[in-house]
Amino acid sequence: MAQFVFLFYFFIISLTAILAIAFVVYAFRIREGDGIKVFGIWMFLTVGWCLTHLALFMADTAESALIALRWEWVFQVLVPPAFLLFIMQYKGYRRWIHGWRRFLLFLFPAGFIASSFNNRMVGYIWDSLQINLDNNIVPIQFRLGSAYWMYWLFAYSCLLLALWGVARNLKQKSRAYLRQARTLMIGISIPLILNIVAMLRPQSAFGFNAPQFSFTLGGVLVGLAIYRYRLFDLSPFYYQRLLESLRDGLLVIDEEGRLLQANQLALDLLGLERSTSIGENFLTLLAQDSPWTPLASISPDQNLELQVTTNDQVLIYSLSCSLIDDRNHENDRVVTMRDVTEEQASKIAEQVSRTTAEDRAVQLDALRKVAEFLNQSVDVASVKLSGLERIATIVGARFAYLILADIHGQPRFEGGYHLPPLLQERFDRTPYCPPCHSFSRFMKGEYLEPVAFIPCEILREISITYSGLISIPLHLGERQLGILNLVMAPNVVFSGDEIRLLQTVGDTFSAALERARLYENAEQLATVDSLTGLFNRRHFFQLAQKEFDRANRYQHVLSILMIDIDYFKQVNDRFGHLTGDQVLQQISDRFQACLRSSDFIGRYGGEEFVILLPETDTESGLMIADRMRASITDRPFITDKGEISLTISIGVADKALDKETSLEIVLENADQALLAAKNYGRNAVSVWKNP
Ligand code: GH3
Ligand code: MG
Ligand code: MG
Repeated sequence: MAQFVFLFYFFIISLTAILAIAFVVYAFRIREGDGIKVFGIWMFLTVGWCLTHLALFMADTAESALIALRWEWVFQVLVPPAFLLFIMQYKGYRRWIHGWRRFLLFLFPAGFIASSFNNRMVGYIWDSLQINLDNNIVPIQFRLGSAYWMYWLFAYSCLLLALWGVARNLKQKSRAYLRQARTLMIGISIPLILNIVAMLRPQSAFGFNAPQFSFTLGGVLVGLAIYRYRLFDLSPFYYQRLLESLRDGLLVIDEEGRLLQANQLALDLLGLERSTSIGENFLTLLAQDSPWTPLASISPDQNLELQVTTNDQVLIYSLSCSLIDDRNHENDRVVTMRDVTEEQASKIAEQVSRTTAEDRAVQLDALRKVAEFLNQSVDVASVKLSGLERIATIVGARFAYLILADIHGQPRFEGGYHLPPLLQERFDRTPYCPPCHSFSRFMKGEYLEPVAFIPCEILREISITYSGLISIPLHLGERQLGILNLVMAPNVVFSGDEIRLLQTVGDTFSAALERARLYENAEQLATVDSLTGLFNRRHFFQLAQKEFDRANRYQHVLSILMIDIDYFKQVNDRFGHLTGDQVLQQISDRFQACLRSSDFIGRYGGEEFVILLPETDTESGLMIADRMRASITDRPFITDKGEISLTISIGVADKALDKETSLEIVLENADQALLAAKNYGRNAVSVWKNP
């Protein structure tokens, strides 16, 4: 029987010891830190307790039994404080177990151990001790001494404190914490309950002494909690680790404004020492002029931004605060301090670069399109109107109008886009603007803001209300051309960049306008006779050749008139060349008045003219020629030197319908007819007839 009890006992204790060791090894493998170390010490002590108890069973002399008993006692007294230490470590009461303080817990056990090795166990720890190795069932018989009762008091204090600490975790809302707490409470309750048996019946019927077994079993359960419920992942001590690894400064401040917790980063930022600041009133810890003072009064779910100057560097910290219900202190505030200096700088830089790049791209593209169009166009009218339209569309103007200076420098309306009817009517009446102060200043070459918000007289005159008028001054270097007015929707605000862009558009517009004007002038010079305004001989022949080819191709008829003024030499001789020129101009005007728009007339030579009449046979040609002749003889020409009466001679020739002829031949024929008219006696029209 005794053998059986022993074997059973041996088996149970070994098994729990092995399990406990396994958990310690496991815990060390997955976690590290003080919590695991204390768990390891505790398990080492309980297993040591178990093994020395077994050694006591196996002792075969009274001497060796006493040695085993003494060592068992050593382990026995160390286990409860180790247990408590573990729980405190888990609970994160590091202040109480930090450094030398943790040894306070072991002061009492050390006294027991010292006294036991002093061989004063008997009468002190045990009132009586009998080692009877012959009695296999109960080899040792004893009565507990006063110190033993003190031990129990101490052991129970440790267990109850541990239980109390863990029980507080039951208030936690986190399910993980609840599971941890439950398992730990069972782990603590096992030695708590079983030790009552051991205490009250120190010599049980079977010699089955429960304390060492109960502590081992408790340890196994705690190991289970480590394994199952991530005891150290979620333990307060682990949180401290977590806090230290944070990149943000973190503080916990309680309802009364005391600093409960802080990571090192936060302490460094605030310039505080952990040892002198935890538990103190936070506000009093800060210097009077500390930039961190708002931290003390930050309220939950509030976000603050602080500028802190350290080492001549301005840093921006984002502060946020939230409530925690850790250990049910509902008003503990967690305050985080995050350095957002770089984050903000890069955010701003990114935003700026993105918007400016996008804006620039849009603006440049718009500018490119306008410039492209303006540069392609050499027609003054289309530069004015289409250019105006494009610029107005790009800037989103409601309407726009172009005011250019005429040769006397007066502001003249030169084109509009989406003009309100009132304004259009006003310009139809007279294209001139009322004298406008800004315009005249600008025209005098005074500096005008690149884009100025100029009060506009004409809009005021017809009482059109406008909230945004942008005038783009148009100039070519020193030369002021005029103003391009854009009337904007209300509240349109232009940035400096946009205004510069508008000015660039204005400059492009000015350049394009000037270029188109020059081009038109040059073109006119090349095609038009400067004295009479008629086509010059070269251009007339170009046009006439085209018309002639067409008439040949489609078998159309056309007529050519050759005109020479009679005795024109005498005009020059009598009145001088200048008067002769005046007369030539007036003759040209009278000629043009007789012609249709499809006819064209050129100055052939000095006082000779040539006319091409499309779709006109000689009969009609003759009629037109006579009308022209009559228009000259009708009334005299009025010149500086008095009235001058003149006659002309005209020769008419046509292109025969059916026959292919050349322009030269028809011209030659007309010339022949003209000669005939001259010979006839002048002031006559003669038609060429095919001989
Ligand atoms: P008619 O033709 O009837 O035989 O006599 P005419 O005096 O007109 O003789 P002709 O046609 O040969 O005269 C040409 C004159 O026209 C010579 C020149 O003095 C004059 N003339 C030619 N071109 C110009 C010009 O551009 N201006 C002026 N004022 N006179 C010109
Ligand atoms: Mg002549
Ligand atoms: Mg003549």
